[in-house]
Amino acid sequence: MRARKSQRKAGSKPNLIQSKLQVNNGSKSNKIVKCDKCEMSYSSTSIEDRAIHEKYHTLQLHGRKWSPNWGSIVYTERNHSKTVHLSRSTGTITPLNSSPLKKSSPSITHQEEKIVYVRPDKSNGEVRAMTEIMTLVNNELNAPHDENVIWNSTTEEKGKAFVYIRNDRAVGIIIIENLYGGNGKTSSRGRWMVYDSRRLVQNVYPDFKIGISRIWVCRTARKLGIATKLIDVARENIVYGEVIPRYQVAWSQPTDSGGKLASKYNGIMHKSGKLLLPVYI
Ligand SMILES: [Zn+2]
Repeated sequence: MRARKSQRKAGSKPNLIQSKLQVNNGSKSNKIVKCDKCEMSYSSTSIEDRAIHEKYHTLQLHGRKWSPNWGSIVYTERNHSKTVHLSRSTGTITPLNSSPLKKSSPSITHQEEKIVYVRPDKSNGEVRAMTEIMTLVNNELNAPHDENVIWNSTTEEKGKAFVYIRNDRAVGIIIIENLYGGNGKTSSRGRWMVYDSRRLVQNVYPDFKIGISRIWVCRTARKLGIATKLIDVARENIVYGEVIPRYQVAWSQPTDSGGKLASKYNGIMHKSGKLLLPVYI
């Protein structure tokens, strides 16, 4: 659905009379509109397209419903009083828990935030829910739909999926890939990427222990530190009894926003003055 290029001006309102005339002329009455909230382009005259948009729209803005029974809890946060968020747009400091979600749900008095690990061997629906989220997330990131083997294998642990839950909704996800083999040896997948040019540094193969295959946060929960929290908690829970250091985390195909996050999280300044990001291929 991302590939469908809008033939008309984004946001143009459907004109029912015109579409009727088009039907009479025997041509397809596709009215392509672009939602200014989730940025999806779709045909407003197609029932199927509208249903896909509705699902995508809700996930993009508010995340997906998540059962309290799904996932194994690796982190909980109940008291946010000390955590503050500096808003870039207004310069004001607001508590982390005064999220847009809460504003739209005034009935919720108790707010719990937690991060869970998705268990591939459970048939209670958590794997299916995670797979569904990933289908829509990959569409947004324009990423291939090939990451599920990393986290949902019941025979071989290539990595793990973690989900950030707020008010029974999955508002963020991270998929972590192990970059070392069973013998403890690191793979040769690590590289340095020059942040400005997105070019890989040639002939240098740094050792990184884990890779971020996918990371995503729904729109109403962005800029609250959720992505950083997901990486931090994943570093502590990917290998039993071990905390992977921040500099051992590599990024896969960083998007513009992913690159920005990477540069702040663990980019390093080379002596040439160029900022380098740890990545893997
Ligand atoms: Zn939308």
